[in-house]
Amino acid sequence: MRIGITGATGFVGRALVAGALARGHEVVAFSRGKDVSIPGVKEVRPILTEGAKALDLAGLDALVHLAGENVFGVWTTEKKRRIYDSRVDLTRRIAADVLKAESLKVWVSGSGSGAYGDRGDEILTEQSSAPGAGFLAEVCRDWEGAALAVAADSEKTRVVVIRTGMVLGKDGGAWPMLRKVFAMFLGSPLGSGKQWVPWIHLDDEVGMILHALEHEGCKGPMNLGSPNPVTNEQMTREMAKRIKRPVMPKVPKFMLKLVMGDLSEVVLASQRMEPKLALETGYQFKHVRLADALATLD
Ligand code: NDP
Repeated sequence: MRIGITGATGFVGRALVAGALARGHEVVAFSRGKDVSIPGVKEVRPILTEGAKALDLAGLDALVHLAGENVFGVWTTEKKRRIYDSRVDLTRRIAADVLKAESLKVWVSGSGSGAYGDRGDEILTEQSSAPGAGFLAEVCRDWEGAALAVAADSEKTRVVVIRTGMVLGKDGGAWPMLRKVFAMFLGSPLGSGKQWVPWIHLDDEVGMILHALEHEGCKGPMNLGSPNPVTNEQMTREMAKRIKRPVMPKVPKFMLKLVMGDLSEVVLASQRMEPKLALETGYQFKHVRLADALATLD
Protein backbone atom coordinates (compact mmCIF):
# COMPACT_ATOMS: atom_id res chain seq x y z
CA MET A 1 0.00 0.00 0.00
CA ARG A 2 1.13 3.59 -0.58
CA ILE A 3 0.25 5.34 2.67
CA GLY A 4 0.21 9.10 3.28
CA ILE A 5 0.82 10.10 6.91
CA THR A 6 0.24 13.56 8.41
CA GLY A 7 1.98 14.14 11.76
CA ALA A 8 4.68 11.72 10.56
CA THR A 9 7.30 13.73 12.46
CA GLY A 10 5.44 13.29 15.80
CA PHE A 11 5.67 10.68 18.55
CA VAL A 12 3.08 8.27 17.09
CA GLY A 13 3.81 9.23 13.47
CA ARG A 14 7.51 8.35 13.64
CA ALA A 15 6.71 4.90 15.01
CA LEU A 16 3.95 4.41 12.45
CA VAL A 17 6.30 5.26 9.59
CA ALA A 18 8.78 2.64 10.86
CA GLY A 19 6.00 0.07 11.37
CA ALA A 20 4.49 0.65 7.92
CA LEU A 21 7.88 0.41 6.18
CA ALA A 22 8.68 -2.79 8.09
CA ARG A 23 5.40 -4.29 6.76
CA GLY A 24 6.47 -3.50 3.19
CA HIS A 25 4.27 -0.44 2.66
CA GLU A 26 5.52 2.74 0.99
CA VAL A 27 5.14 5.99 2.96
CA VAL A 28 4.59 9.55 1.80
CA ALA A 29 4.85 12.00 4.71
CA PHE A 30 3.01 15.31 5.04
CA SER A 31 4.62 18.05 7.12
CA ARG A 32 4.56 21.80 7.74
CA GLY A 33 8.34 21.68 7.95
CA LYS A 34 10.75 22.49 5.16
CA ASP A 35 13.64 20.09 4.49
CA VAL A 36 12.07 17.39 6.68
CA SER A 37 13.93 14.12 6.54
CA ILE A 38 12.40 10.90 7.89
CA PRO A 39 14.38 7.63 7.63
CA GLY A 40 13.04 5.43 4.83
CA VAL A 41 10.64 8.09 3.49
CA LYS A 42 11.44 9.21 -0.03
CA GLU A 43 8.75 11.84 -0.43
CA VAL A 44 7.53 14.60 1.91
CA ARG A 45 4.61 16.72 0.73
CA PRO A 46 3.58 20.08 2.25
CA ILE A 47 0.66 20.56 4.60
CA LEU A 48 -0.59 23.95 5.76
CA THR A 49 2.39 25.73 4.29
CA GLU A 50 2.14 28.73 2.02
CA GLY A 51 0.96 27.72 -1.39
CA ALA A 52 -0.31 24.31 -0.18
CA LYS A 53 -4.04 24.99 0.07
CA ALA A 54 -5.03 21.43 -0.77
CA LEU A 55 -3.46 18.19 0.37
CA ASP A 56 -1.91 16.43 -2.61
CA LEU A 57 -3.26 12.89 -2.26
CA ALA A 58 -2.34 11.79 -5.79
CA GLY A 59 -1.29 8.15 -6.06
CA LEU A 60 -2.07 7.24 -2.42
CA ASP A 61 -4.06 4.15 -1.43
CA ALA A 62 -4.44 5.23 2.20
CA LEU A 63 -4.15 8.27 4.44
CA VAL A 64 -3.46 8.34 8.19
CA HIS A 65 -4.10 11.80 9.63
CA LEU A 66 -2.35 12.37 12.97
CA ALA A 67 -1.36 16.07 12.77
CA GLY A 68 -2.53 18.45 15.45
CA GLU A 69 -1.29 20.87 18.10
CA ASN A 70 0.03 18.94 21.13
CA VAL A 71 -2.60 19.02 23.90
CA PHE A 72 -0.06 19.30 26.74
CA GLY A 73 0.88 22.75 28.05
CA VAL A 74 -1.11 25.56 29.61
CA TRP A 75 -4.62 25.70 28.19
CA THR A 76 -4.83 29.42 27.51
CA THR A 77 -7.63 30.61 25.21
CA GLU A 78 -5.07 30.82 22.40
CA LYS A 79 -3.73 27.29 23.06
CA LYS A 80 -7.27 25.88 23.10
CA ARG A 81 -7.98 27.62 19.79
CA ARG A 82 -4.86 26.04 18.27
CA ILE A 83 -5.83 22.59 19.63
CA TYR A 84 -9.29 22.95 18.06
CA ASP A 85 -8.37 24.58 14.74
CA SER A 86 -5.39 22.34 14.03
CA ARG A 87 -7.70 19.35 14.31
CA VAL A 88 -11.16 20.40 13.21
CA ASP A 89 -10.40 23.02 10.53
CA LEU A 90 -7.52 21.00 9.10
CA THR A 91 -9.59 17.79 9.03
CA ARG A 92 -12.46 19.60 7.25
CA ARG A 93 -10.02 20.82 4.61
CA ILE A 94 -8.51 17.34 4.23
CA ALA A 95 -12.02 15.83 3.97
CA ALA A 96 -12.69 17.95 0.87
CA ASP A 97 -9.46 16.64 -0.69
CA VAL A 98 -10.26 13.02 0.27
CA LEU A 99 -13.60 13.25 -1.55
CA LYS A 100 -11.75 14.26 -4.73
CA ALA A 101 -8.89 11.75 -4.40
CA GLU A 102 -9.38 9.03 -6.96
CA SER A 103 -7.09 6.31 -5.64
CA LEU A 104 -7.73 6.64 -1.87
CA LYS A 105 -9.43 3.53 -0.46
CA VAL A 106 -9.11 4.14 3.28
CA TRP A 107 -8.72 7.16 5.57
CA VAL A 108 -7.74 6.65 9.22
CA SER A 109 -8.21 9.93 11.06
CA GLY A 110 -7.15 10.81 14.60
CA SER A 111 -9.33 11.17 17.67
CA GLY A 112 -8.96 10.44 21.38
CA SER A 113 -10.60 8.58 24.24
CA GLY A 114 -11.49 12.13 25.31
CA ALA A 115 -14.46 11.72 22.95
CA TYR A 116 -16.24 9.86 25.76
CA GLY A 117 -15.83 12.65 28.33
CA ASP A 118 -15.90 11.62 32.01
CA ARG A 119 -17.87 8.36 32.39
CA GLY A 120 -17.11 6.78 35.78
CA ASP A 121 -17.16 2.96 35.73
CA GLU A 122 -19.22 2.62 32.54
CA ILE A 123 -17.63 0.21 30.04
CA LEU A 124 -17.12 2.18 26.83
CA THR A 125 -17.19 0.38 23.49
CA GLU A 126 -17.57 1.93 20.06
CA GLN A 127 -21.33 1.46 20.52
CA SER A 128 -21.41 3.67 23.64
CA SER A 129 -22.71 7.17 23.18
CA ALA A 130 -20.19 9.92 22.52
CA PRO A 131 -19.46 12.76 22.88
CA GLY A 132 -19.23 13.26 26.59
CA ALA A 133 -18.91 16.69 28.18
CA GLY A 134 -15.77 18.88 28.31
CA PHE A 135 -13.43 20.69 25.94
CA LEU A 136 -11.68 17.59 24.57
CA ALA A 137 -14.99 15.81 24.03
CA GLU A 138 -16.15 18.79 21.94
CA VAL A 139 -12.91 18.83 19.97
CA CYS A 140 -13.21 15.07 19.31
CA ARG A 141 -16.88 15.40 18.29
CA ASP A 142 -16.11 18.00 15.61
CA TRP A 143 -12.80 16.35 14.61
CA GLU A 144 -14.49 12.96 14.10
CA GLY A 145 -17.51 14.61 12.50
CA ALA A 146 -15.32 16.24 9.85
CA ALA A 147 -13.82 12.87 8.88
CA LEU A 148 -17.01 10.81 9.15
CA ALA A 149 -18.84 13.22 6.84
CA VAL A 150 -16.70 11.72 4.08
CA ALA A 151 -18.05 8.24 4.89
CA ALA A 152 -21.57 9.53 4.27
CA ASP A 153 -20.57 11.11 0.94
CA SER A 154 -18.16 8.58 -0.49
CA GLU A 155 -18.60 4.92 -1.35
CA LYS A 156 -15.00 4.45 -2.38
CA THR A 157 -13.18 5.60 0.78
CA ARG A 158 -13.57 3.69 4.06
CA VAL A 159 -13.20 6.02 7.07
CA VAL A 160 -11.99 5.01 10.54
CA VAL A 161 -11.65 7.45 13.45
CA ILE A 162 -9.23 6.20 16.08
CA ARG A 163 -10.20 6.99 19.67
CA THR A 164 -6.72 6.70 21.15
CA GLY A 165 -6.01 6.33 24.87
CA MET A 166 -2.79 7.37 26.63
CA VAL A 167 0.04 6.13 24.43
CA LEU A 168 3.01 4.71 26.34
CA GLY A 169 6.37 4.82 24.59
CA LYS A 170 10.00 5.24 25.57
CA ASP A 171 10.74 8.46 23.69
CA GLY A 172 7.57 10.52 23.68
CA GLY A 173 4.06 11.02 25.01
CA ALA A 174 3.41 11.10 28.77
CA TRP A 175 5.83 8.40 30.02
CA PRO A 176 9.21 10.26 29.86
CA MET A 177 7.66 13.13 31.84
CA LEU A 178 5.93 10.81 34.33
CA ARG A 179 9.19 8.91 34.82
CA LYS A 180 10.88 12.12 35.95
CA VAL A 181 7.99 12.97 38.27
CA PHE A 182 8.19 9.53 39.92
CA ALA A 183 11.99 9.70 40.12
CA MET A 184 11.64 12.93 42.13
CA PHE A 185 9.41 11.14 44.69
CA LEU A 186 6.37 13.03 43.37
CA GLY A 187 4.33 10.14 41.93
CA SER A 188 0.81 10.37 43.38
CA PRO A 189 -2.68 9.20 42.47
CA LEU A 190 -4.59 12.15 41.05
CA GLY A 191 -7.94 13.21 42.51
CA SER A 192 -9.84 10.17 43.81
CA GLY A 193 -7.51 7.90 41.79
CA LYS A 194 -10.63 5.91 40.83
CA GLN A 195 -10.83 7.33 37.30
CA TRP A 196 -10.09 4.79 34.53
CA VAL A 197 -7.15 5.37 32.23
CA PRO A 198 -7.28 3.80 28.76
CA TRP A 199 -3.58 3.20 28.11
CA ILE A 200 -1.97 1.66 25.03
CA HIS A 201 1.62 0.68 24.28
CA LEU A 202 3.12 2.44 21.24
CA ASP A 203 3.69 -0.96 19.55
CA ASP A 204 -0.05 -1.63 19.72
CA GLU A 205 -0.99 1.92 18.70
CA VAL A 206 1.02 1.33 15.52
CA GLY A 207 -0.23 -2.26 15.18
CA MET A 208 -3.86 -1.19 15.48
CA ILE A 209 -3.54 1.65 12.97
CA LEU A 210 -2.03 -0.78 10.45
CA HIS A 211 -4.79 -3.28 11.33
CA ALA A 212 -7.41 -0.57 10.67
CA LEU A 213 -5.82 0.18 7.30
CA GLU A 214 -5.70 -3.47 6.28
CA HIS A 215 -9.08 -4.75 7.54
CA GLU A 216 -12.29 -3.86 5.71
CA GLY A 217 -14.28 -4.64 8.88
CA CYS A 218 -12.80 -1.57 10.57
CA LYS A 219 -14.92 1.47 9.89
CA GLY A 220 -16.36 4.36 11.90
CA PRO A 221 -15.10 4.91 15.48
CA MET A 222 -12.46 2.44 16.71
CA ASN A 223 -11.13 2.34 20.29
CA LEU A 224 -7.34 2.19 20.52
CA GLY A 225 -6.61 1.07 24.06
CA SER A 226 -5.38 -2.09 25.74
CA PRO A 227 -8.03 -4.67 26.76
CA ASN A 228 -7.06 -3.94 30.38
CA PRO A 229 -7.61 -0.29 31.27
CA VAL A 230 -6.56 0.50 34.85
CA THR A 231 -7.59 3.11 37.39
CA ASN A 232 -5.31 6.09 37.94
CA GLU A 233 -4.41 4.64 41.35
CA GLN A 234 -3.46 1.25 39.85
CA MET A 235 -1.40 3.00 37.18
CA THR A 236 0.38 5.09 39.82
CA ARG A 237 1.26 1.92 41.79
CA GLU A 238 2.59 0.11 38.71
CA MET A 239 4.69 3.09 37.64
CA ALA A 240 6.08 3.61 41.16
CA LYS A 241 6.95 -0.10 41.37
CA ARG A 242 8.65 0.01 37.98
CA ILE A 243 11.03 2.78 38.93
CA LYS A 244 11.36 1.72 42.56
CA ARG A 245 9.81 4.71 44.26
CA PRO A 246 7.07 4.94 46.91
CA VAL A 247 3.53 6.00 46.04
CA MET A 248 3.00 9.46 47.48
CA PRO A 249 -0.32 10.71 48.96
CA LYS A 250 -3.17 11.59 46.59
CA VAL A 251 -3.25 15.07 45.06
CA PRO A 252 -6.75 16.48 45.68
CA LYS A 253 -8.88 17.53 42.73
CA PHE A 254 -9.00 21.22 43.73
CA MET A 255 -5.20 21.38 43.81
CA LEU A 256 -4.92 19.82 40.35
CA LYS A 257 -7.41 22.37 39.05
CA LEU A 258 -5.40 25.16 40.66
CA VAL A 259 -2.09 23.98 39.22
CA MET A 260 -3.18 22.57 35.85
CA GLY A 261 -6.23 24.72 35.13
CA ASP A 262 -8.56 23.29 32.47
CA LEU A 263 -5.91 20.72 31.48
CA SER A 264 -6.81 18.86 34.70
CA GLU A 265 -9.81 17.57 32.70
CA VAL A 266 -7.38 15.26 30.89
CA VAL A 267 -6.09 13.52 34.04
CA LEU A 268 -9.35 13.51 36.01
CA ALA A 269 -11.72 12.15 33.36
CA SER A 270 -12.65 8.47 33.67
CA GLN A 271 -12.76 6.38 30.50
CA ARG A 272 -13.08 2.62 30.93
CA MET A 273 -12.59 2.05 27.24
CA GLU A 274 -12.57 -1.39 25.62
CA PRO A 275 -11.14 -2.15 22.16
CA LYS A 276 -14.20 -4.13 21.01
CA LEU A 277 -13.90 -3.53 17.26
CA ALA A 278 -10.18 -4.37 17.20
CA LEU A 279 -10.76 -7.65 19.05
CA GLU A 280 -13.76 -8.57 16.89
CA THR A 281 -11.73 -8.03 13.73
CA GLY A 282 -8.91 -10.25 15.01
CA TYR A 283 -6.28 -7.79 16.27
CA GLN A 284 -3.72 -9.58 18.47
CA PHE A 285 -2.31 -7.36 21.21
CA LYS A 286 1.41 -7.34 21.94
CA HIS A 287 1.07 -5.79 25.43
CA VAL A 288 -2.04 -6.54 27.46
CA ARG A 289 -0.81 -5.94 31.04
CA LEU A 290 0.42 -2.54 32.14
CA ALA A 291 3.32 -3.96 34.19
CA ASP A 292 4.62 -5.86 31.13
CA ALA A 293 4.19 -2.80 28.90
CA LEU A 294 6.12 -0.57 31.33
CA ALA A 295 8.90 -3.16 31.51
CA THR A 296 9.66 -2.47 27.83
CA LEU A 297 10.13 1.27 28.38
CA ASP A 298 13.37 1.40 30.40
P1 NDP B 1 2.74 14.96 18.40
O1 NDP B 1 2.43 16.24 19.12
O2 NDP B 1 3.97 14.24 18.78
O3 NDP B 1 2.83 15.19 16.82
C1 NDP B 1 1.81 15.78 16.10
C2 NDP B 1 2.32 16.28 14.75
O4 NDP B 1 1.34 17.20 14.26
C3 NDP B 1 3.64 17.06 14.80
O5 NDP B 1 4.73 16.22 14.53
C4 NDP B 1 3.49 18.15 13.74
O6 NDP B 1 3.99 17.70 12.47
C5 NDP B 1 1.96 18.31 13.61
N1 NDP B 1 1.52 19.53 14.31
C6 NDP B 1 1.88 19.99 15.53
N2 NDP B 1 1.26 21.15 15.82
C7 NDP B 1 0.48 21.42 14.75
C8 NDP B 1 -0.40 22.49 14.44
N3 NDP B 1 -0.61 23.51 15.28
N4 NDP B 1 -1.05 22.45 13.24
C9 NDP B 1 -0.86 21.42 12.38
N5 NDP B 1 -0.02 20.40 12.61
C10 NDP B 1 0.63 20.39 13.78
O7 NDP B 1 1.43 14.05 18.56
P2 NDP B 1 1.33 12.48 18.86
O8 NDP B 1 2.16 11.76 17.86
O9 NDP B 1 1.54 12.23 20.30
O10 NDP B 1 -0.21 12.20 18.56
C11 NDP B 1 -0.71 12.03 17.24
C12 NDP B 1 -2.22 12.24 17.25
O11 NDP B 1 -2.81 11.31 18.15
C13 NDP B 1 -2.59 13.64 17.74
O12 NDP B 1 -3.65 14.14 16.96
C14 NDP B 1 -3.06 13.41 19.17
O13 NDP B 1 -4.06 14.31 19.58
C15 NDP B 1 -3.61 11.99 19.11
N6 NDP B 1 -3.53 11.34 20.42
C16 NDP B 1 -2.29 11.14 20.99
C17 NDP B 1 -2.20 10.58 22.26
C18 NDP B 1 -0.88 10.34 22.92
O14 NDP B 1 -0.86 9.81 24.07
N7 NDP B 1 0.24 10.66 22.29
C19 NDP B 1 -3.43 10.22 23.02
C20 NDP B 1 -4.65 10.46 22.31
C21 NDP B 1 -4.69 11.01 21.05
P3 NDP B 1 4.78 18.69 11.46
O15 NDP B 1 5.53 19.68 12.29
O16 NDP B 1 5.69 17.76 10.70
O17 NDP B 1 3.75 19.30 10.59
